[in-house]
Amino acid sequence: MDMLKKKSITDFQLEKKRVLLRVDFNLPIEEGKILDDTRILAAIPTIKFLVNKGARTILMTHLGRPKGRVVEELRLDPIAQHLSDLLQQVVIKVDEVIGDEVTKAVEDLKEGEVLLLENIRFHPGEEANDEDFSRSLAKLGDIFLNDAFGTSHRAHASTAGVASYLPAGAGFLLNQELEMIGGIISNPKKPLVAILGGAKITDKIGVIRSLINRVDSILIGGGMANTFLLAQGYEVGQSLVEKRETETAQNLLHEAEKKGVTIYLPEDLMVAHEFKREATPEIHRVDRVPAHGYILDIGPATATTFARIINESKTVVWNGPMGLFEWETFARGTRELVKALAGSGATTVAGGGESVAVVRELGLEREITHLSTGGGAFLKMLEGKELPAIKVLDDKKEGFNSK
Ligand code: AMP
Repeated sequence: MDMLKKKSITDFQLEKKRVLLRVDFNLPIEEGKILDDTRILAAIPTIKFLVNKGARTILMTHLGRPKGRVVEELRLDPIAQHLSDLLQQVVIKVDEVIGDEVTKAVEDLKEGEVLLLENIRFHPGEEANDEDFSRSLAKLGDIFLNDAFGTSHRAHASTAGVASYLPAGAGFLLNQELEMIGGIISNPKKPLVAILGGAKITDKIGVIRSLINRVDSILIGGGMANTFLLAQGYEVGQSLVEKRETETAQNLLHEAEKKGVTIYLPEDLMVAHEFKREATPEIHRVDRVPAHGYILDIGPATATTFARIINESKTVVWNGPMGLFEWETFARGTRELVKALAGSGATTVAGGGESVAVVRELGLEREITHLSTGGGAFLKMLEGKELPAIKVLDDKKEGFNSK
């Protein structure tokens, strides 16, 4: 697959070059305090490599949703400060996204120095993928590198637009995502199992349809399983369900059957009588869910079955929680799943903020082969779709790209 053949950071002459690096520093910040710096830590290898090569690094990221306007609370100063501490060198920060101050700062930038532009989404041209804005950004650099996998499914100026005007490739973080996820798409060790959870099937119809052509089985949990259960005629009580999608669910089940792919749905469920954090759950078989009940997690028999299938697989991809895991009582199904993944000898890949958060909470990050930094981007890639910000990167074959 093409995705595997994109140029990466090690394919460029970086010495003395001005390198525009798109990172994803969209972090939780409260009153100027960074609550979780995982995303900064993840970009450090790429930044350090550039620094050590004597490149002049110009970082671009978005933070929050300022929607093309300057929002004071979303300025990047706390990030520049924290990155300085981590790198143990000053990170120069400008207060503009583009313009004279930025041009001057870039001109003054010396070998090995790092500059951070202001929140790229302060500019209306960013999300509009405006050509002029993309060209202005491109003028700041000699090479463009993308390390922001999580936003690569969106064609914005700093992720896709700018890449059309410069030699462009992947940073270490993005390259690793492409190799891991791309490898699973093009050449997985079989049996290959996909596990999907989360609230709704609407977001995941495309990926399920595509996975049916490539996987051996699909395990479905979380709120989205309810729509499949309803489609099979089961009572789902007052649970979260998409009644309008039952026909789609039925079609997907038929398609899977035709292709010889088994879709496993929960055989038992954790059901609450009230939609409350402190509700006491009851275990019910799938055909015994009470009419007033709320399905909030998979049951223990389902967790055991899912664990068994994981153990029989060679490759497992996972996105989305098995239940309302934010409430302690209903986190068990998701945690059991993570433990099964961690304990299996399979190649395991998990994506999506919530899934990854549960892995971290259990301290099992090292037991999972690859934790993707993408949610939407991860699903798009599993679907086999080309992501706009990856498509525009230079192909690895010399002379293939006409830029
Ligand atoms: P998504 O963004 O589609 O991956 O959905 C994640 C959300 O789905 C999480 O906030 C979960 O709490 C929620 N969720 C998962 N299972 C259930 C369920 N059975 N009932 C209600 N919410 C659920």
